[in-house]
Amino acid sequence: MNKNSQENHSKKIPGRHAALKRVVLLSTGGTIASAPGSDGRAVAGVLSGEDLLAHTGLEGLMEARVESVFQKASNAIGPAQWRQLAEKCAQLIHSKQVDGIVITHGTDTLEDTAYYLHCVLDTSQVPVIVTGSQRVPQAMGSDAYANLRQAMELAASPHARGQGVLVSFNQSVFSAGFVRKVSSYQLNGFDAPGLGPAGMLDEGCFHLLQRPRIQPLLPNPAQLPRVDILPAYGGAEAAMARAVLQSAPDALVVDGLGRGQVPLAWAPVLAEALENGAIIAVCSSTLHGATHESYDYPGSLHELVSAGAFNVSHLSARKARIRLALSMAAYGKDISAIAAAFSW
Ligand code: ASP
Repeated sequence: MNKNSQENHSKKIPGRHAALKRVVLLSTGGTIASAPGSDGRAVAGVLSGEDLLAHTGLEGLMEARVESVFQKASNAIGPAQWRQLAEKCAQLIHSKQVDGIVITHGTDTLEDTAYYLHCVLDTSQVPVIVTGSQRVPQAMGSDAYANLRQAMELAASPHARGQGVLVSFNQSVFSAGFVRKVSSYQLNGFDAPGLGPAGMLDEGCFHLLQRPRIQPLLPNPAQLPRVDILPAYGGAEAAMARAVLQSAPDALVVDGLGRGQVPLAWAPVLAEALENGAIIAVCSSTLHGATHESYDYPGSLHELVSAGAFNVSHLSARKARIRLALSMAAYGKDISAIAAAFSW
């Protein structure tokens, strides 16, 4: 690659001679903000954003500002916090006073928060980057400060604009639309299975290699309907599906088998629910590939769709659940509008 084409694909963060980029760090807790408790186990969310930023060596390289939004382990983060973060980001974007936003977050539900923000935020002017760490900052070889520094560098890059929300982790950059936590402990904790990273970070340069496809933006609502996930597996009994439906969620995402099938025992249960007006989306529990009406037998996707379910492709059940909740908040039970919100 010659020098010019290299420059087209990457962006060195500005040094002391360029106008300093203004990047806001919103910290929310997680392992990246942990400190050891009295028994040596990590206590999430103890360190503030300022504590973290002080170790990144970015002083003088950008104008960084920190806001500790909350200090939580990520299993305590859900719709109320997603909404709050989305509002905060939207305010910062509209202020025109920032060049980039970084959110530090626990890794366990990082993909949910990042995807919610991806569905509701326009990143065309200001990149929004989510990061975290697998190891606590005090651990040997911790990724905490390195991941934060790389996320801050990415947020300062104009090449990160308009790509939707990005997740920066272990020098790789993923679309929030496809990223998943793939390791419970290793430093390469995130991947976009089957698709790979949108780009990478190397010595302060962002190399954008693939532009992520982005589905339609949706409003950030005051309240989300309750959408549950029903995970399919071989030999599942009807009782499981019945129990979920009897608890009366507003809608259901079935994390289906292969192309979108369900266990045989669930076929009549789901058919009855659909007949009674239930909203049921079917996605695939495989790591990549589309759902498709390839088969015609009891429990096949074709049978479910014929009964009124709709199928979702290229989204994990966790992401489909969030998009379904957001689209129902926007369009109620208008299935064609909801289906359009899932279009590519
Ligand atoms: N259990 C932690 C959390 O999600 C894991 C992490 O942050 O990496 O808050």
